[in-house]
Amino acid sequence: MTGKKGLLVVLSGPSGTGKSTVIGALLDLRDDLRFSVSATTRAPRPGEVDGREYYFRSREQFLDMIAADAFLEHAEYVGNFYGTPAAPIEADMAAGYSVLLDIEVQGAAQVMAKRPEAVSVFLCPPSLDELERRLRGRGTDDDDRVRGRLAAARREIAQAKNYDYIVVNDDAHKAARELDAILTAELCRSGRQLRSIPEGEMFP
Ligand code: ADP
Ligand code: 5GP
Repeated sequence: MTGKKGLLVVLSGPSGTGKSTVIGALLDLRDDLRFSVSATTRAPRPGEVDGREYYFRSREQFLDMIAADAFLEHAEYVGNFYGTPAAPIEADMAAGYSVLLDIEVQGAAQVMAKRPEAVSVFLCPPSLDELERRLRGRGTDDDDRVRGRLAAARREIAQAKNYDYIVVNDDAHKAARELDAILTAELCRSGRQLRSIPEGEMFP
């Protein structure tokens, strides 16, 4: 990696919007980006692997991690706990990587307060009808849970204005390209560039 410091990137958006899909495409576009693997008390979905999508933990294990101050942030969402382990983020950023957090709005607000330099992006579905189609199409939630996630979605979309950027996921590859452009632009911000160029060498 270069000597330049990476970005802490917070991505939020209602469940079913396509965050995982878009993040997968974005990670293929950027080798300077790492995904922050969260801990959760929810059950794995088919195909999800412990330590890759999430660290799947019991409620007791999760509460132990809170007590040990292991999380940068944590929150309860639709009946389960989710939290961002702090140590891997520090390690990845120290190695020069940018780190992407896929977290809901309460956790994102905690990160923005603790780390004001974080870049925040809200991924929006093209419409609530399309969001419902995606949730039902994914087939991982029963009717009650889909209704719960849609109610949560309305509350979350109301928070989009608090984010630095809003990207609409109508096409997943287009959304990934827009996120890629945001990261590239943020890395080129003058403040960041001036910090990484030795003082007095080019800019007096
Ligand atoms: P999230 O991580 O936000 O919960 P997922 O990535 O699991 O969402 O996507 C939810 C469903 O929507 C999946 O079945 C996925 O294949 C589908 N999906 C994602 N992005 C798009 C898109 N741009 N157009 C149509 N379907 C999409
Ligand atoms: P899902 O169950 O669909 O994987 O995720 C549900 C919600 O939890 C999503 O909005 C996702 O962004 C959020 N989430 C995932 N990991 C974390 C985390 O570590 N902290 C917080 N606050 N939210 C998370």
